[in-house]
Amino acid sequence: MTKKVYLAGAGPGDIELMTLKSARVVKEADVIIYDKLVNPEILKMAKEGCEFIFVGKEYAKHLMPQEEINEIIYQAALKYEVIVRLKGGDPFVFGRGGEEALYLKEKGIKFEIIPGITSSISVPAYAGIPVTNRGYTTSFRVVTGHEDPNKKDSQINWQSFVTDETIVFLMSIHNIKLITDKLIEVGKLSTTPCAIISRGTTKEQKVVVGTLENITEKSNGIPTPAMIVVGEVVKLREDLKWFEEV
Ligand code: SAH
Repeated sequence: MTKKVYLAGAGPGDIELMTLKSARVVKEADVIIYDKLVNPEILKMAKEGCEFIFVGKEYAKHLMPQEEINEIIYQAALKYEVIVRLKGGDPFVFGRGGEEALYLKEKGIKFEIIPGITSSISVPAYAGIPVTNRGYTTSFRVVTGHEDPNKKDSQINWQSFVTDETIVFLMSIHNIKLITDKLIEVGKLSTTPCAIISRGTTKEQKVVVGTLENITEKSNGIPTPAMIVVGEVVKLREDLKWFEEV
């Protein structure tokens, strides 16, 4: 087998939402470099003797700078044949997989991308919220909520959020008040439906529903990882809620 780094998605939490391809490379791996968002159950699939390197990245607990992670992957690639860089959800959706792949390319290391089921659509689905739905909205967007919306040179065009699009904010809970205030400030209705989904697709899934105006107070103490979904489609949860009832 040729030496290769697999930048693989682990899915959003529920182990069965991992792709067959990711599962195959996990089984073949000599080393697995993984994030905090990866369900640890997945690691049990690895072969005996596989090395595990935890590079636990989760916002607000930045354990390790990206440069260091890039270097760890590279060093693992020098040592092993089958290197799996396993990331929560999809490696290219706010996963910094692109940066890691670029680093490997610079170093002349072969890599392969294995997309994963991103939390941005699957977690709403487990909460009974379709990100698009006829008669509600024809599009959705996924945004990082990491940035302070009042930052002067913000790269986010907040004005553009005044649409009927569904907006999924990842990495957003710590900024929830700033984000919801900003959306109201730029002209979204304060009654726009919102949901917070915590630990989606897992046994600990929690969903809180409200409006732009009151979701912040309702979010108090909700565990991470969590996301905010904004838009009329949130109303569909009332009828489409299913996971909590399984
Ligand atoms: N690459 C990942 C996203 C990484 S950003 C993907 O495609 O899913 C990390 C953010 O994803 C978290 O801050 C949170 O907003 C969201 N997230 C990931 N898994 C989640 C889960 N199971 N439940 C709720 N939010 C989740």
